[in-house]
Amino acid sequence: MSLNKKDLFKRIPKVDELLKGERFKRLLKAHTRHTLVEAVRTVLAELREKIDALEPAAVSLDWFTPEAIFLHVEMELSRRAAYHFRRVINATGVVIHTNLGRSLLAGPVLEHMVRVAESYSNLEYDLTEGKRGIRYVHAKRLLCDLTGAEEALVVNNNAGAVLIALNSLAAGKEAVVSRGELVEIGGSFRIPDVMAWSGAVLREVGTTNKTHLFDYERAIGENTGLLLKVHTSNFRLIGFVEQVPGAAVSDLAHRNGLPAMEDLGSGNFIDFRTLGLPSEPTVQEALKQGMDVVTFSGDKLLGGPQAGVILGKKKYIEPIQKNPLNRALRIDKLTLAGLEATLRFYEDPVEAVRQIPTLRMITQSPENLKRKARSLRRRLARDVTEGFQFAVVPSTSRVGGGALPEEALPTYCVAVTPTKLSETELEKHLREADPPVIARVEEGRVLLDVRTLLAKDSADLIRVFSEISHAS
Ligand SMILES: *Cc1c(COP(=O)(O)O)cnc(C)c1O
Repeated sequence: MSLNKKDLFKRIPKVDELLKGERFKRLLKAHTRHTLVEAVRTVLAELREKIDALEPAAVSLDWFTPEAIFLHVEMELSRRAAYHFRRVINATGVVIHTNLGRSLLAGPVLEHMVRVAESYSNLEYDLTEGKRGIRYVHAKRLLCDLTGAEEALVVNNNAGAVLIALNSLAAGKEAVVSRGELVEIGGSFRIPDVMAWSGAVLREVGTTNKTHLFDYERAIGENTGLLLKVHTSNFRLIGFVEQVPGAAVSDLAHRNGLPAMEDLGSGNFIDFRTLGLPSEPTVQEALKQGMDVVTFSGDKLLGGPQAGVILGKKKYIEPIQKNPLNRALRIDKLTLAGLEATLRFYEDPVEAVRQIPTLRMITQSPENLKRKARSLRRRLARDVTEGFQFAVVPSTSRVGGGALPEEALPTYCVAVTPTKLSETELEKHLREADPPVIARVEEGRVLLDVRTLLAKDSADLIRVFSEISHAS
């Protein structure tokens, strides 16, 4: 008997009929009728989609039985009971992975956040004076001490920091930027667009590959508001190129009575060269070069919670703090607690690298990574005996977050070659596992980069691979 699609659709059971079954009635003890009906509808909709997508001959009538549907409804109910926003295992090796939550917070940072969240706090209360205080003071002293800045302000994220700084200092005036620095960072953050929203008028100078000091000089006039430099983050100009150093730009600004601002993107406090890594501009350097306002993210190389940090001269930070936009971009109390706790590690840079997960992951030695990969491979091979071959292979990982974009960090991966599945099927099974495992597919295998794996991930990985091995 050959059924066409129409016949198949007709065979899909009705919701009411299904719910009369004993099995389904039992589910009503643990779930409301509404939840159960929604779950059944979802499962039937999926069945409909499957019939639609397949040749009728590829559709099995076993899928239509109340037993089969019941199993899917149970799975759907447990999916609905689980958190939608949850932990995943990052096996990509990209440390500051924007889609996977960027920086992880250190244990002591979380403890401080919990302490502040579960009690009342002095968020906006001055304990010395016994009256209303301001929330920005909590991170201010550390930020200024660590960087040499005169004043500090923190907002919701760095996009907000750039927006409010430009709006406060250059609305209705021209902000002068090199054409080589008019970048798009991703997630729709484009310097020209942010500039437009801030009310500042973009004044592009130079060419795509070369900008000289005289380009800035010629652009300065009656209506200039500030000179802006932007870290090109995820992109590098190479070859016949030239940009004007920050010190020369800020010097020119000051000679004309203007502020100079730099958006550092992934601002960091530690000179990466001292860690055997290529140089990334530090926040301290930008300030030393005479930048009046410097902005950067809290959750990129700094390794803290999502925040936008604005540092610089009091004269320019004060109008930013008073801008009504500041209320709209206000940093929340948990973030402030997390930021202060993260910043405290930087009082001792060795401690910062040891404690802050982002820095620890970036600076792991290849020997250490090799040891980690070998240990994971050994455990996987011992406990998952069927369906996969595991091998340790050298590879490269990336920092992410627009930092060190050219740099491939040497790493080691456990390469998984599936024997019963395709590598893309395996990738999908991993992604749909609990916890989901996000991994790279490369040349017929799935790579698990140990750089971004946490200690607690190994046991879960072994369980997930065992489950996939039994199911396939
Ligand atoms: C990442 C980045 C931003 C945006 O920072 P968020 O913290 O994501 O808002 C802005 N400018 C530069 C140069 C960046 O690299």
